[in-house]
Amino acid sequence: MNFDVVVIGASAPGLYAAQILARAGKKVVVFERHEEINPARRTLIVTRELCKVIDEVPLPALLHRIGVMAISSPDVTARIRLRDPDPIVERSYLIQWLASRLQDSGGELRLGYRFEDFVESENGLHLRVQGPNGELLVCVKDAVIGADGVFSEVAQSAGIPRPPFVSVLQAEVSLPVGWDPDVTQVWFDSNDTRFFYWLIPESAERGVVGLVGDSGAQARELLRRFLIQHNLKPEVYQGAQVAMHHPGLKPWSKVGETPVYLVGDAAGQVKVTTVGGTVTGLMGAKAAVRAILNRTSYKAELRALKRELDVHWLIRALLDRLDNLGYDSLIGALSSSVRIFLARHNRDSMAPVFWRLPFLEPRLFRVALNSLLGRSVERGKRAKRARAAATEVD
Ligand SMILES: Cc1cc2nc3c(=O)[nH]c(=O)nc-3n(C[C@H](O)[C@H](O)[C@H](O)COP(=O)(O)OP(=O)(O)OC[C@H]3O[C@@H](n4cnc5c(N)ncnc54)[C@H](O)[C@@H]3O)c2cc1C
Repeated sequence: MNFDVVVIGASAPGLYAAQILARAGKKVVVFERHEEINPARRTLIVTRELCKVIDEVPLPALLHRIGVMAISSPDVTARIRLRDPDPIVERSYLIQWLASRLQDSGGELRLGYRFEDFVESENGLHLRVQGPNGELLVCVKDAVIGADGVFSEVAQSAGIPRPPFVSVLQAEVSLPVGWDPDVTQVWFDSNDTRFFYWLIPESAERGVVGLVGDSGAQARELLRRFLIQHNLKPEVYQGAQVAMHHPGLKPWSKVGETPVYLVGDAAGQVKVTTVGGTVTGLMGAKAAVRAILNRTSYKAELRALKRELDVHWLIRALLDRLDNLGYDSLIGALSSSVRIFLARHNRDSMAPVFWRLPFLEPRLFRVALNSLLGRSVERGKRAKRARAAATEVD
């Protein structure tokens, strides 16, 4: 069995990369360990960049659109009316659609085939794959794409370090009575999580409530409490571990002379502000395709995406140090000019414009500086109150 390109994992980025390569005339195959393309439901909020990357969003995958993002700390709320509403997408439909597009483009999809490791020989690189009828040795000419998720076996076999990861858990619920289905709500509470809770409507009646946890147990316990507090009844849970970008990641290697490129969660192509990896994973797939078709370096093709992901990493590093009063100050600093800015520039295209924010609102610069210096606003205020009390006593 010989192929120009072998893709491991029928994830969205894997199928998408394979489909473009097949259309460009490459002999390409995707090996997926599961026996059918029927991934668990996952309700995703993405930006309009999704339509730019894959040209169209298939209608059955598009559940809903939301036009308002409400962001709250314990004492302050800001509402941002998005210029282009965010699509709410169902992952399993998106993947099924990408799989059918791959087959229409002449690419092969083999289900029930698990990648095990690489075998180098004088005839080039082979992949050992366990299929329904036993083991196969597959010869690859141009490149291997590892699109096999955060615990990538391709990465492990190619000696590429794994990205850090977190647990994402959300519950499908009926929307609370009177909830505006145009509004996604985000709640920060640093006493519970360094990330946030969310409620994302997926129709006029239903939505998902969730959070990111540093561990699965933490996420489960916090979500359980949050649902009780808000009188929400969980119907079905959606959850998995998701990779986190880190500026030091290098999602490529060579085995013998053959390049190995990681895409999606395997590569840590996830915005760590929101732990959103759908659009950025597809951008990573596009970069890998360009590197293969144009014989350029994947590192160079990834430059713009890396800049974007690094900006999110920097914001996350600042957010991780905020306490609740810090969040109050941050959200309080979202003046009308900042809200207009955030309404225009979506979170998949922040890097070229991010530096403008502190000029629009200098209070943002102060919040960032306090966070960097480790001087939380809460501690600062407490110290000020203590000084005032001490002066009164004097
Ligand atoms: C509950 C939840 C909510 C989320 N919400 C959002 C959101 O709102 N917006 C957003 O952008 N992102 C969201 N994410 C993150 C996003 O879903 C992930 O970043 C994205 O799915 C990345 O996964 P992937 O496509 O790279 O890999 P995966 O989805 O993990 O796919 C990997 C594929 O590779 C296959 N595979 C693995 N090993 C092998 C092997 N050895 N051989 C063959 N096949 C193999 C697997 O079976 C699987 O099909 C959410 C994640 C979760 C869990």
